[in-house]
Amino acid sequence: MRLVAISPGMSRDAIDYAGLDAGRDCNYWNLDRTLRFEAERAYDEDDREWAAEKLAEWGEIVGNEIAENAAVVDRHGPELHTYDRHGDVVNDVEYHPLQAENERLAYEHGIVADGFRAPPGRDESLGLLHHLLMNGLLSYADPGFACPVAMTGGAALVLEKFDDGALDEFYYGLTARDHEHLIEGAMFLTEKQGGSDVGANETTARPTERTYSGTGAEGKEGTEAEAEADVYELVGEKWFCSNVDAEGTLVLARRPDAPDGTEGLSLFLVPHTAADGELNDQLYRRLKDKLGTISVPTAEVELTGAEGYLIGEPEEGFAYMTEMLNLERLHNAFASVGIMGRALLESKVHAANREAFGETIDQYPLMRRDLVDMAVDYEAAAAFVFAAGEQFERREATEPGTDEHRVAFQLMRALVPVAKHRTGRMAVDTASYACEVLGGNGYVEEFVTERLLRDAQVLPIWEGTSNILSLDLLRALDREDAHEALLPFVQDDLEAVEHPAVLPAAELVEEAFVDFQNALGTLATADRDYAQHEAKQLANLLFDVVTGARLCDHAQHAIEADGDARKALVATWFARTRFGQEDARGITDGEALPDEYFDAIVRYAAVEPDALVPAVTGD
Ligand SMILES: Cc1cc2nc3c(=O)[nH]c(=O)nc-3n(C[C@H](O)[C@H](O)[C@H](O)COP(=O)(O)OP(=O)(O)OC[C@H]3O[C@@H](n4cnc5c(N)ncnc54)[C@H](O)[C@@H]3O)c2cc1C
Repeated sequence: MRLVAISPGMSRDAIDYAGLDAGRDCNYWNLDRTLRFEAERAYDEDDREWAAEKLAEWGEIVGNEIAENAAVVDRHGPELHTYDRHGDVVNDVEYHPLQAENERLAYEHGIVADGFRAPPGRDESLGLLHHLLMNGLLSYADPGFACPVAMTGGAALVLEKFDDGALDEFYYGLTARDHEHLIEGAMFLTEKQGGSDVGANETTARPTERTYSGTGAEGKEGTEAEAEADVYELVGEKWFCSNVDAEGTLVLARRPDAPDGTEGLSLFLVPHTAADGELNDQLYRRLKDKLGTISVPTAEVELTGAEGYLIGEPEEGFAYMTEMLNLERLHNAFASVGIMGRALLESKVHAANREAFGETIDQYPLMRRDLVDMAVDYEAAAAFVFAAGEQFERREATEPGTDEHRVAFQLMRALVPVAKHRTGRMAVDTASYACEVLGGNGYVEEFVTERLLRDAQVLPIWEGTSNILSLDLLRALDREDAHEALLPFVQDDLEAVEHPAVLPAAELVEEAFVDFQNALGTLATADRDYAQHEAKQLANLLFDVVTGARLCDHAQHAIEADGDARKALVATWFARTRFGQEDARGITDGEALPDEYFDAIVRYAAVEPDALVPAVTGD
């Protein structure tokens, strides 16, 4: 086996992680052959080369400046000054200068802009999957900062879809490439009495005689140049407001006489600065003293008559917000992948360098198995979030009313909540175990793993908890018939498998796929309480089956395209650990696939397909 130092090309040689001191001062994109494999398959041919170059530049920036800055910012989080010394409200959030520098680096590199508008030298935007992937890479270094980026993209998406042009200047600010003209997004939904239960929102919106028409000279494509938005005054209390001082904040509130529940909610753009240039009427009461995601300020806000501009039609706010939430949930899933990627990298580097009992610890069978398990989890998470992201983007790109659009919508509805739910939990588990791989150091502030764990812990909570997302899957199956698209999606992946190095894994997934269909059949006729009782079980099974099938499809593709069976090993270990019915927990036959193929799975060494067949078939 040949070893390479950290090289930019997609090499078939193993990566030598001992060449690094830590998972910093390196290029996260070049090192991450898992993400590169997924991107290679997901991007259009026209975009691939351009995007690969940009992502390599971005991986270098995140792995160096942004990672360095993020470590400092975590120790010097934002501070809130609600009042000035005269007792006047100023709502001023003071940031560490390195946070501003990270913002400049990210936005000027197109982290939001390139997803919405054509970057210099190109005719079209790169689309939302590119925006998601860049944010996932950012999460290698700062998952807290990934939150404002996600909400900036989310607010832009809502305005792009539902504003008739009155708020164009906000859209341009949110999608600006230069830092000077940039504004960020935020969303204030949660109130004390309800986060999951958004329909319990009590914030009110009083109509005024005023309208807002902005100052943007040119309209977005398809919007009215002279459009105006009705201005309302919002009163109420919002309990968790991340990126609190954003100029592009979207807020849910109820107009007078609107119905109770989610049907009565309208959506407003509530800027930090009012149209007259004065501070908007609100009080940033205090910042939450949080466990992690320190770089983003999360506040309690009292809306005391703040002006808000109605977006689209009244009482459609929850439907509009759902569009933003889908994107936010995907961002959460890509952020989870970013945290897992960093935790895994730190673990690999440490294990390659740390000596105990006379050897580096990556020579010991039990540690090799740990690293294989972590690496396979990572490949699984990446495969699933890409599948969800691709369907989200396909839905955006296809014509409503067509079959392709319906299928993409149904798949997106099933995959997005599960992606967010499963990867959020996997990120916590991977970050937690990475602390242990680093031993005592892993628990100490100077090593990034403790921050990764603190940051990861919010991923299963915000943007919808695991339970709420599992219930959302039931809704997608019940109301949107998501299974109609999901079952052929899995079947197609499994039918693509031909090579004997992949077939045993595909057979295990096939059996689990039958179980999954039986579970769907049972729940289709079950009463509501029983369906809810099993909702998370179903979401977890869906994740495993879809991921197993995806990995098999990827494995077949890699053999055909590159003559490399490494992915077949990943698919095999995934399927065996999820679906293998082993006696005595597999402690039976002396076979240790992770130990034998450690270099392939953990260090990305290529494997000759035919040579692998005996190991995976047991022949
Ligand atoms: C750091 C941080 C930043 C945040 N930033 C924002 C922000 O910017 N904007 C914003 O709007 N919100 C934000 N949130 C709020 C977050 O989205 C909510 O906290 C989250 O959605 C959960 O809502 P909740 O706190 O009201 O908990 P609850 O809804 O009370 O949930 C409590 C528990 O009950 C469970 N549960 C609820 N209903 C059911 C059910 N029907 N069946 C089974 N279990 C159920 C939940 O899964 C959860 O485990 C933030 C939260 C945090 C921690």
